[in-house]
Amino acid sequence: GFETVEHRLPMLSIDNVYDTDAVREFDVRVRRFLQRDEPLDYTVEYKIDGVALSVTYENGHLARAVTRGDGRRGDDITHNARTIGGVPLRLETDSPPAVLEIRGEAFIANSDFAHVRAEQKARNETPFANPRNATAGAIKLLDPKQCAKRRLRFLAHGTGYTEGIAFETHVEFLNLLREMGVPTTPHVKSYRGIDAALEHGQELIENLHSLDFEVDGLVIKVNSFALRDELGATSKSPRWLIAYKWEKYEAVTQIEDITIQVGKTGTLTPVAHLTPVKIAGTTVSRASLHNRDELQRLGVRIGDHVVVEKAGKIIPHVVRVEEDQRTGEETEFAFPERCPECGGDVVQDEGGVYVRCINPNCPAQLRESLRFFASRQAMDIEGLGIKRIEQLIEAGLLTSFADVYRLKDKQEKLLELERMGEKSLENLLAGIEQSRSRPMWRLLTALNIRHVGASNAQVLADRFGTLDEIAAQSEETLAEVDEIGPVIARSVYEFFHSDVGRKMVDELREAGLNFGTPVERREEGPKPLEGKTIVVTGSLTRFTRDEVKEFIHRLGGKASSSVSKKTDYLVAGEKAGSKLEKANELGVAVITEEQLFKMADGEMPAAAGSDTGTPEAGVSEVGASEGESPKGES
Ligand code: ZN
Repeated sequence: GFETVEHRLPMLSIDNVYDTDAVREFDVRVRRFLQRDEPLDYTVEYKIDGVALSVTYENGHLARAVTRGDGRRGDDITHNARTIGGVPLRLETDSPPAVLEIRGEAFIANSDFAHVRAEQKARNETPFANPRNATAGAIKLLDPKQCAKRRLRFLAHGTGYTEGIAFETHVEFLNLLREMGVPTTPHVKSYRGIDAALEHGQELIENLHSLDFEVDGLVIKVNSFALRDELGATSKSPRWLIAYKWEKYEAVTQIEDITIQVGKTGTLTPVAHLTPVKIAGTTVSRASLHNRDELQRLGVRIGDHVVVEKAGKIIPHVVRVEEDQRTGEETEFAFPERCPECGGDVVQDEGGVYVRCINPNCPAQLRESLRFFASRQAMDIEGLGIKRIEQLIEAGLLTSFADVYRLKDKQEKLLELERMGEKSLENLLAGIEQSRSRPMWRLLTALNIRHVGASNAQVLADRFGTLDEIAAQSEETLAEVDEIGPVIARSVYEFFHSDVGRKMVDELREAGLNFGTPVERREEGPKPLEGKTIVVTGSLTRFTRDEVKEFIHRLGGKASSSVSKKTDYLVAGEKAGSKLEKANELGVAVITEEQLFKMADGEMPAAAGSDTGTPEAGVSEVGASEGESPKGES
């Protein structure tokens, strides 16, 4: 019952890859094809799991909407497209182009899908298994009134045939579409170089749970239309974009309860307790519901059947509620008005997303911040796990970070505790003792200052040398440090100028912790690595990760976590992976751990291009530092 229409420009398929190394290879291919050494600008966007459409506007009016079909010709579904949210009948512009073909994805939002299923059930039809199938079915309906009931939406992500309009970049194109009243795939920005693009991609992946539509990957595109033209296409797909996809698994289970977890900075996080369900080989029994807004958007009630998704390495999350399975027995969850652990006041974050307990003496915050303080990410105190922390708090022996270092004076009391024999006490105290000399950036991380994770802490430690020096800086000076910026600077400044922060620092100084080495003193001795940027990857035998960084600093070098043309040396240990490949590709000198060590005696290895001591390529990496961004804990 549909007219078949030929696409003026074919709707080619996209090449799929399933890991980031393959995305980097794509970048290498693209630059080789263009014969360009310098990094290119890429955009990264969600790949919506819907039905691809081509929508053509002529002189600003919706002229035709066609399915992808076989890529050469598709079905004319204009009658249905008129009912789709996001496909305006007229473009909002006074000077419309003669022809503008917009490509995008039609889909049913997760929050609408429940209604669609409920209506199907009411009509005694078999409900659709997922929004994608429902969308495909709806698009092919003959009666647009029926199609309208499915509440289809559309988000644009590309262009096809045009007349009377041109764009320089993808970002510009998307901005223009939005100005003309056509919604586009959200959060698309341009990034210089594939590493920056992938970093942003990781952020998009971490925020999958906040979307109201299903996603099955990311699409990475060359931003410049001129370069796209140069790149062209193979017979199957364009050379200027790639889909980075992951396997997705879903299961239906029931929400048995919803509780609130209070985090180390007081954030109240709702958590769904699920009837355990197996998804892709692992049993899932809990899922974060992230925050109050998301709880409301999902509309979950205790007792609801929900679809839980597990995608790649992403933590499982609740996608939607199966509203048609409601019996009326479900109970709504009221988000608490006070901290459920201490009864203290809560406030909404500046960003408006998180709700936070602001009682500085909140026991939950004490427990969680001590857990973090002692963790591998921070002071790495062996023997001080969460069970032990809870026990010590209970016994009144731990009320602050500094109390950890006072435990050695309370051995009699400690021995009275359950599960605390002489041997375990000895181990615990030894673990605590060892942590005293951890590098200062670890202490800074452990202080649990908002927005300051391991990587920002390292940057600050490098720049200022000692904790006291960091504490003495103005907000402006802190903000001027590379990679820090105003949000983190304010947080650091406020911490060191708060009563709580000052007291904490004084007590820890008294406890004899490593507060760092002044920058001036650090610069004593020969500096054979002066001005050199060094990246370390793979596993080393002589140094730990912290030690190798300190070693490089002591010799005047800069330890960086990513390889670029500015890198002078890559120290490659066993199982060096993509960083080694990248270094070889860029012609960065690759050296062994031994060669680095000998640099202390002024023995400098050969310049770039030497292939001495290149270990076998592998997968695991040591050099990367944990990324963090000022977006609150989550
Ligand atoms: Zn509290």
